[in-house]
Parts: sequence; C-alpha cells; structure tokens
Amino acid sequence: MDKRIDGKAFAEGLRARVASIAADFEGRAGRQAGLAVVLVGEDPASQVYVRNKGKQTLACGMASFEHKLPAETPEADLLALVEQLNVDPAVDGILVQLPLPAHVNESKVIAAINPDKDVDGFHVVNAGRLATGLPGFVPCTPLGCVMLLKDRFGSLAGLDAVVIGRSNIVGKPMAQLLIAESCTVTVAHSRTRDLPEVVRRADIVVAAVGRPEMVKGDWLKPGATVIDVGINRVPAGEGKTRLVGDVDFASAAPVAGAITPVPGGVGPMTIAVLLRNTIVAAHRNAGIALDESGL
Ligand code: NAD
Repeated sequence: MDKRIDGKAFAEGLRARVASIAADFEGRAGRQAGLAVVLVGEDPASQVYVRNKGKQTLACGMASFEHKLPAETPEADLLALVEQLNVDPAVDGILVQLPLPAHVNESKVIAAINPDKDVDGFHVVNAGRLATGLPGFVPCTPLGCVMLLKDRFGSLAGLDAVVIGRSNIVGKPMAQLLIAESCTVTVAHSRTRDLPEVVRRADIVVAAVGRPEMVKGDWLKPGATVIDVGINRVPAGEGKTRLVGDVDFASAAPVAGAITPVPGGVGPMTIAVLLRNTIVAAHRNAGIALDESGL
C-alpha cells in the first residue's frame, strides 16, 4: 500500500457523497441546504478560504450565502448579523471566518452562533458535547484527520497517539476524538519536556504546531502513522515560496508506516468536512433522519 495518505482523493469522495445526499435533501425538504460564511476585513488568506468554501458549497448542490463586511465593522453589527442568520430558515450552517479584527471579541461572536448551526464546532456547547460524547458538531480539521485514520486502519482502539499542539481548533478536539476512538492519548505542547522522546512512543503522531518541518524522522517509532496538520509558507528561492507541514517529510517518510503529505493531505479535508457538517445540520434542522454512517 502507498505510504502516502491521499487526503485530496478522500476529500473528493466525501464531497461526492455530500452532493448526492444534498440532492436527496432538496427533494425531501423542498429547499437546498444552506451555508452562510461571514468574512470581516480583507485578510488575503481568509479571502481565498472563503472563495473556495463558496465554490465548493455550490458544487455540492447547496446554497452559499456570503457576507463580506469591512474591517472596521462594529462588533454589535456582527453580532446582529449572526442573530439574523440564527433565525433564517434557509441557513443551516454559519461559519464566521477567523481571525476577526482586533476590536472584535472572537469568543463573544462564536458564543452568539446557534450551536445547532455551528458547523465549525467552535461553540462551547459543541466543545462540551464532544468532550462528553454527545452528538454535536466537531471542528472540521481534526474530524478530517480521524476520517483519514479510520479509512486507513479501521479500528484505532488501543493505539498510542501523540497530538502535538493544544489549540481549541485542532489539538484539543483531536485529542478528544482519539480518546473516543479508544486510543491512549498524550497531548504535547510548547512546554513539553523532551518532545522527541514523547513522540517516539506513538503509533499515531498528529502534528498541529505551526512550525515548519519541526518533527524529524528520527523522532518517530518505525512504522508510525504521521498526520501533518501544519500549513507553513516558507521561502523557496528566487523570491518564490512553497508550502510545508510541521513534519520534515524527507526524513519522516522513510521511517513512517503512513504519512500525509503537505499539500494534499489534511488540507483538502477541512472544507469537505465543513460541507459534511452542513448537510448533517440541514437534516437535523429540518427534522429529516439521516444515516450518518457513510459520511
Ligand atoms: P495554534 O498556534 O493555535 O497552536 C499551536 C500549538 O502548538 C500550541 O498549542 C502550542 O502549545 C504548540 N506549540 C508551539 N510551539 C511548540 C513547540 N516548539 N513544541 C511543541 N508544541 C508547540 O495553531 P493551530 O491553529 O492549532 O494550527 C496549527 C497548525 O495547523 C498551523 O500550521 C495551521 O496553519 C495549521 N492548520 C491547518 C488546517 C488545515 O486545514 N489543514 C486547519 C487549522 C490549522
């Protein structure tokens, strides 16, 4: 089997399954499932993400509502827009693109989203549901990582997993998901002592740090599975740049049993899972049963 875990191909398959379910939903609900994306300001990376999300939402046969607000939009106006989307029956999922400008309190905005439309899974209610094993919405990137792992291995029960990074968006929900899969989970972070030694114990290593090529091949147990969440742009000479992960692919690939490349590994999963969460939200909001096992 190819060592490389092909997230691009898996994400394409997931989007195709979502599109087929979205068509069925439209027939049964008499409307399309809908995703609203709110972008405040002109951050170039965020603009690219939002454009891609909109395009892929439409390609899956769902409605896309884009709200682009100027950087100086007052917090109160943003909260009012979220409230309007909360009660809009055409909107099943709401995503507020982060980061928000400094004058806006991100936690307050996320807390204002109806948890049942919080397809990013960032609301404390959804974090609590994940931590206690209740159905809710799980952040897209870590859920995508677990989908890739389960697709490759089936059961993950009993495996030693090390998650590097403890952010609310990736590291912590990743750890919760792996606990739910019956892994023995260690969460490492910037204050961890002797990180290479901690990583050497792992059957599964998830790197979500934001430091280019930090995890080296000689940190890995031979045969370990490596999931590289990092997306870092580094200079590539002649004024050009290239994307690398948090794992040094050249030294890690020969040692690993399976590894996600950057780009083409975890990255493409995030939007595909967002669309998956949106079609799930649409069914729950419309009171239509959905067999989620194939998603
Ligand atoms: P973050 O900055 O919020 O968190 C980074 C974490 O890494 C922190 O918990 C910190 O304790 C830990 N850390 C920092 N330095 C460390 C060190 N030297 N050793 C061990 N741990 C260290 O970042 P994030 O939002 O969790 O994102 C992490 C990476 O994943 C970034 O590269 C980001 O671009 C990428 N990312 C990718 C996707 C995707 O779609 N594939 C989505 C989200 C984030």
